Amino acid sequence: MERRISCSSSSALFFVFLLLSWPACSVSSGADTLSPDRPLLDDGVTALVSSGGRFRLGFFGPNGSTNRYVGIWYNNIPDQTVVWVANRRHPLTTLSGNLSLTTNGTLTITGEDNTTAIWSSGSPASGLRNPVARILDDGNFVVQEAGSNGNDSNSFAWQSFDFPTDTLLPGMALGQKQLRTGAILNINLTAWMSSTDPAPGQYVFGLDVRGDPQLFIWSDTRPYWRGGPWNGRWFSGVPEVRDGADGVISFNFNKDHLSYRPVSQSSTIVRWTMNSSGQLQLLVWAEQSWIVSWYIPKDRCDQIFLCGPNSYCRSNISPPCTCLPAFHPRNQRNWNMLDGSDGCTRTTPLDCLNNTDGFFTQSDTKLPDTSRSTVVANLSLEGCRALCLSNCSCRAYAELDIRTASGCLIWTEDLTDMTVYQRGLGQDLYVRLAAADLASASASESSHHHSGRNILLTVVLPLAILLFLACVAYSIWRWKKRFSQIHYEAEDKDMELPLFDLNTIKDATDDFSPDNKLGEGGFGPVYKGKLGEEQEIAVKRLSKTSTQGVDEFKNEITLIAKLQHRNLVKLLGCCIQGEERLLIYEYMSNGSLDNFLFGEAQTVFLDWRARYNIILGVARGLLYLHHDSRLRIVHRDLKASNILLDKDMNPKISDFGMARIFGGDESESITKRVVGTYGYMSPEYVMDGIFSIKSDVFSFGVLVLEIISGKRNRNVGQSMEQSNLLGNMWIMSKEGKCLDLVDTKFGHLLSENEVLRCVKVGLLCVQKQPEDRPTMSSVLAMLVSVDNISLLPEPKQPDQADRHHDKDCKLGDSGMSSLQLVPYPDTATNIL
Ligand code: AMP
Repeated sequence: MERRISCSSSSALFFVFLLLSWPACSVSSGADTLSPDRPLLDDGVTALVSSGGRFRLGFFGPNGSTNRYVGIWYNNIPDQTVVWVANRRHPLTTLSGNLSLTTNGTLTITGEDNTTAIWSSGSPASGLRNPVARILDDGNFVVQEAGSNGNDSNSFAWQSFDFPTDTLLPGMALGQKQLRTGAILNINLTAWMSSTDPAPGQYVFGLDVRGDPQLFIWSDTRPYWRGGPWNGRWFSGVPEVRDGADGVISFNFNKDHLSYRPVSQSSTIVRWTMNSSGQLQLLVWAEQSWIVSWYIPKDRCDQIFLCGPNSYCRSNISPPCTCLPAFHPRNQRNWNMLDGSDGCTRTTPLDCLNNTDGFFTQSDTKLPDTSRSTVVANLSLEGCRALCLSNCSCRAYAELDIRTASGCLIWTEDLTDMTVYQRGLGQDLYVRLAAADLASASASESSHHHSGRNILLTVVLPLAILLFLACVAYSIWRWKKRFSQIHYEAEDKDMELPLFDLNTIKDATDDFSPDNKLGEGGFGPVYKGKLGEEQEIAVKRLSKTSTQGVDEFKNEITLIAKLQHRNLVKLLGCCIQGEERLLIYEYMSNGSLDNFLFGEAQTVFLDWRARYNIILGVARGLLYLHHDSRLRIVHRDLKASNILLDKDMNPKISDFGMARIFGGDESESITKRVVGTYGYMSPEYVMDGIFSIKSDVFSFGVLVLEIISGKRNRNVGQSMEQSNLLGNMWIMSKEGKCLDLVDTKFGHLLSENEVLRCVKVGLLCVQKQPEDRPTMSSVLAMLVSVDNISLLPEPKQPDQADRHHDKDCKLGDSGMSSLQLVPYPDTATNIL
């Protein structure tokens, strides 16, 4: 095995050897620069490290492979996360590599024979007199003239950022770039072949600069996913990731060039990675793990061209394809067989010559493919409409930049690969229709605008009959439900969740023996059980007397069945038999967090490390609910007793009976039935019934402060002064004494810095105004940030509004801990 040659030896013999052999000396480990006389030799250890210590460049071998590559990875992340590979197509098979810089500024990798280059960066356009190669702190490996400003991109003769592998780092750009040589470079991400092989794989992510530039993933050069054009705030097909979203990223988009950079959270480590199974992920490093904060493809509508021309896809309905209004299926037979790929055709031809055509507004769309559409900047929407009408080939138009409400996009061919999102997520598309179709298109959208006898016969009468039949069916269903033992087969099919037989669960829980009772929540008791020899389960038995709980039960099933995250309790199945409704969960052997924090018999004391991990775990679980799915989920009852702990004390959020789903941009909702728990409810929820992800953030803040102090925020029976944890924490924090409120048993195990950071984040979460509270992604970023705590914003004084409602409070069936404030008749409906 060849070893690194060290310059430190003074032996004369060795000196002669050094003079005779080439290269003379190798670079020393930890330096950030390579020069022609100091190559990097693969000794399994030596590597360049960027001056700020963020990135490392050297030879590496992927896990499970004996091949050697030159790559760049994060210096401080323990699990080697490689962000760039030089010789991805030509690995070395032994520990013999040599990365060197020629005197004209070309980087080369040679193997054992030290002569044949297996990889080269190519000669720079203009020769360099005294070149050096340097790994920079943003992960860019650059060749430049020695002595020039290290970070000035104008001084780079070559940079690795122009030749990405599968990862886009902040500061990198995707798209086309003209090199100094005049050559046009396409900058794309290409997935690894597999997790052990960095060779170019099947999937490529990049920007198609034709027409209005769009993001694409290609699979073996064929389009696989289309992210659509940039509309000033988001890519039309990526409505969840918006400009400056949550202070993490911002796009900078010029015609053929996209770059992205972190905005406010300078210490947050983020990357985009195209993985080998075809998923593009946005990952954030938070306390020892990579969190996937967004990914694509996510649902069936992300499958490109699933629905053919002039039809659009909706992920939440079946079949997913729908013709645009006033269009009908091109191939009715295939369409009937749920194959929408032939798309749709116009019912009435356009009448351009007589100028009678008009436009139908299709709202909330992912715009059709823009690779062949015409872009006219600086044109108003009215001008755009006129331009479309003046062109007989024009099929549709849309706004180019929704921020400035300007610019014009025109389609002169079929409209392909459209999706219609939930309300508020997409953009308006103006589809050209013949005059004769305009009325029917609007009618199909809003039948209530119609009037007259015709409408009575064609709309009202059938509707009345349908309504009547529905009432009859509903009555029969109610009757059957009450008087017979029905197995709800039809409902169960939709649940996609294992259905357990009642006898199996009875066996598992010893017929719901009181000895197996784990606890009692708002909707009934929870029992421990055992399926077979191995699997321990927890069975939540909805109380038969609780008519209130049926909706919540269904809510919980439908919701949790769709959720998978290591910080959410896992639902294994359900049982609906006769009047019995059971939810079967994974068993959490350490029970709920409240027992550890406030339980009378606190046998185990949670040290600071355990508490800190619980805070982070709950934050991750909540981040997943709020941001990581196209739908936002508001839990509405986050509290210590709803945090369960597994055998390793990992926290899992449970009890989704109160949870609500929000569609896309929908950010808040109002209910007349305020449900929640004493001490955890935000002021706007208690006072006005307004709930949003920010009301969960409030509850999270309360939880954090309880975890730190070991005290309940509101203890029934305590006086207001005694129980005002939030107010006390704020005052103590202002006076720099908040460690006085910390559980005294921590002793020396406490990490003062972490506690103060958590207190500050907790106080930011419990601010009175929802808009002052951070989102969960900011919460997580703040919790794990290495920045000085003083850089975090100063929290405003909390105002605990649920004290104003003490008189109106009515305790729910969970006894002391849960309550329902019902100031109005209960008319709330589940969004589900
Ligand atoms: P819940 O109705 O979800 O609030 O649950 C009531 C109580 O039952 C909790 O506070 C826990 O003590 C216990 N419990 C609920 N689910 C589980 C589970 N999966 N594993 C262990 N204990 C549980």
